[in-house]
Amino acid sequence: GLLHRVLAFFPMAGETNAEWLLQAVLKLKLEGTRPGWMLDAGSSRTTVYVYQWPAEKENNTGVVNQTYRCSVKGSGISSYGNNPQAVPKTFEDCMQRVKEKIPADLHKSTLAHLGATAGMRLLRLQNESAAREVLASIQTYFESQPFDFRGAEIISGQEEGVYGWITANYLMGNFLEVCSGPMHTTGALDLGGASAQISFVPEEEAGHSANSTVQVSLYGYTYTLYTHSFQCYGRDEAEKRFLARLFQVNTAVLVNPCYPRDYVTTLTMEHIFGSLCTEELRPASYDPGYKIALEGTGDPTLCREKVYSLFDFQVCHDREDCSFDGVYQPKVKGTFVAFSGFYYTANALNLTGSSPLDAFNSSTWDFCLQSWSQVSGFDEVYARSYCFSAHYIYHLLINGYKFTRQTWPNIHFKKENSSIAWSLGYMLNLTNMIPAESPLTQASWQN
Ligand code: AMP
Repeated sequence: GLLHRVLAFFPMAGETNAEWLLQAVLKLKLEGTRPGWMLDAGSSRTTVYVYQWPAEKENNTGVVNQTYRCSVKGSGISSYGNNPQAVPKTFEDCMQRVKEKIPADLHKSTLAHLGATAGMRLLRLQNESAAREVLASIQTYFESQPFDFRGAEIISGQEEGVYGWITANYLMGNFLEVCSGPMHTTGALDLGGASAQISFVPEEEAGHSANSTVQVSLYGYTYTLYTHSFQCYGRDEAEKRFLARLFQVNTAVLVNPCYPRDYVTTLTMEHIFGSLCTEELRPASYDPGYKIALEGTGDPTLCREKVYSLFDFQVCHDREDCSFDGVYQPKVKGTFVAFSGFYYTANALNLTGSSPLDAFNSSTWDFCLQSWSQVSGFDEVYARSYCFSAHYIYHLLINGYKFTRQTWPNIHFKKENSSIAWSLGYMLNLTNMIPAESPLTQASWQN
């Protein structure tokens, strides 16, 4: 029946061509509607996202739904460098649930992929064979699973930035308005555990820099995107760098102005100095298992001052087109969505959506002045660090990315895609849901 309808439309096509055309259309349709799942292997944890496309006509927007999410228990895969074989076991619970969520007859056609970010980029720099073994062990596991597994790979910081930007714009519905000209885009700010990304379309006359500018062609329009990923500037790695700077071999207790007053804990030397990001600050007396005592003093003014030193602003010599550490960045433009680490912290300060800079600062001070017994409702590991994170975010956005009192309200701290980040954009690209003129993934992309 279908073949005859195609022939009726294209009488000149001939039966063979019509058959071919029909098969091609059906294949495309299948590609675009099959379910998929992504494993986002972040530095601090791994999350599985299941995506489903609405059935034809049911939803004219064609917006992909994230239908299910599962957090893998334990730490991120990059912490398994010494024990790669143990990684697949940690996935089993989530994979069992994913299998229950997706109808069994669709398992074989379900697209699946694992993308690892800065935690694995760091492990690869520190111990390349360990990183390779972790990925190989994951690859072997998923090859034995009933899905259309497309591989386990470490994505570059630039890909992470671009896909995060696609996610942000997709969820804002910006792709739906493309009929009338290039879309109005929103920038994306992502604060992961190990790296931080900024991506936006700058003013046209902005200078170009080959390694931070990516041409993204979507729906017939090309967007020149500025994107940069800062390794070791993720929230967790930044805090390790901060603690490493506070550490003095000859003091019994490490006094931390960013921890709440009356908060005491111990951390191993490995926790602080085991990372590539703190390697150069490692003391001669480094002993991984040695326990360091820490005590909070809840001093927001001192915390703000000390967190500033995590960035090298001097090397930019007050140049406007330089964020920090000598990195080129055009002037921020338009609205921004701030997700992951940005969102969790804003949420803890009771600020979401957009708000004035003064509100961010006064909430930061209110939070930091609470004693430990007053900080409630959060996991200990997160709760003790919100004060640090708030100051860190301030410096990153204001002194780093150069938002101002005027442009700060253009930043929207968003819950919706707080955790999806790059994975949705990646899945959209993988399934051709966004007609990109050239593949977004280029071998030449850098870390
Ligand atoms: P992720 O989105 O997993 O890459 O996490 C980004 C950063 O947010 C990491 O530094 C995490 O430690 C932190 N984080 C994740 N979940 C929470 C939460 N519920 N509250 C506070 N921080 C979080």
